[in-house]
Amino acid sequence: MIPPVLPTYNRAPLTFVKGEGAWLTESDGRRFLDMGAGIAVNALGHAHPALVEALTRQAEKLWHVSNLYHIPEQQALAERLVAETFADTVFFTNSGTESCELAVKMARKYWHAQGTPRSEIVTFGGAFHGRSTAAIAAAGSEKMTAGFGPLMPGFVHVPWGDHEALRAAVTERTAAVLIEPVQGEGGIRVLPDQCLRGLRALCDETGALLVLDEVQCGMGRTGRLFAHEWAGVAPDIMMVAKGIGGGFPLGAVLATETAGAPMTAGTHGSTYGGNPLACAVGLAVMEIVAQPEFLAEVRARAGQLRQGLESLVATHPEVFEQVRGAGLMLGLKCRLPAAEVMKAGFAEELITVPAADNVVRLLPPLTLTTEEAEEALRRLDRAADAARAAARAA
Ligand SMILES: *Cc1c(COP(=O)(O)O)cnc(C)c1O
Repeated sequence: MIPPVLPTYNRAPLTFVKGEGAWLTESDGRRFLDMGAGIAVNALGHAHPALVEALTRQAEKLWHVSNLYHIPEQQALAERLVAETFADTVFFTNSGTESCELAVKMARKYWHAQGTPRSEIVTFGGAFHGRSTAAIAAAGSEKMTAGFGPLMPGFVHVPWGDHEALRAAVTERTAAVLIEPVQGEGGIRVLPDQCLRGLRALCDETGALLVLDEVQCGMGRTGRLFAHEWAGVAPDIMMVAKGIGGGFPLGAVLATETAGAPMTAGTHGSTYGGNPLACAVGLAVMEIVAQPEFLAEVRARAGQLRQGLESLVATHPEVFEQVRGAGLMLGLKCRLPAAEVMKAGFAEELITVPAADNVVRLLPPLTLTTEEAEEALRRLDRAADAARAAARAA
């Protein structure tokens, strides 16, 4: 019999009932160190006092009115995002997938408005942009598209890192190039700064819009507010979600005036997008994450964690192959099956997240302390010992 919850997820046998900072309490009372943060969502950890206050204060005032009216919390968050980024304008969504949908629509509408329609969108191998029909067609992986055809046309797929294929794919027919500056689900693969700069130049040559998917790598995750800032170039359109709501469902599409202008009244909408509760929390998240001192702390913790992981790779060559990533978006490429390493982590009360390419992801809350980072490394060290012992016994 089919379970009451449609079983599209393979769930770990864990039920968390309470969270505080980087710690989660299981229903049996065990305390887990959370190096997953709900897949890079709980940017400020669990139950951060500023977010609890923003949410409860708004809950007592007003929950929902619809986008038929002005929403001051939405206005304030949009102004803050515009002030801190390349963008001139923002549309709020409820998820990364919805941000992908709008980014695709916006790119095509831009070219339609030019009077020279272009529909092709160039994407990359190993990408993940969400689970809607457009988002799975954009990423194009067989695992996500099988059985869901016919797929939305217009996406051109280029293997990750294949510069020649990229040059051939981006032409006068290309509406936009869509890429994650750091691939998340694809296995924590970092796009080198010079490649992002080259991509920007290629887009400028051909007129194609540059769309960045910063749903996972944005909102302070890499130690800058947005990952592309490291390369010193700006996109035309950017997708955001995950960390921006700190655990409350919220996403956004940020755009330059040029890219966003054709999206006039009636061209897009969302019942919940930019709802007062979501934006009140989003504003509280931004007020903390956008602080230079906060981002400096993220970079310090990232350096500490990365150095510790490099030593783990050196001491466990049978278990780990390599450390990858940027900031607090780190991946351990494994020699043993990543799922086994993750399971051994659960036994040590440590939460990690799997990714493609046999990678274990570490996406801790950005508020992780020095001691918590040390503790995570100790638990990972014990988990690696246990995973190796289990593999030898098998
Ligand atoms: C998670 C993710 C998405 C999809 O976001 P949802 O909120 O699950 O719809 C899109 N792009 C990237 C890079 C992601 O990590």
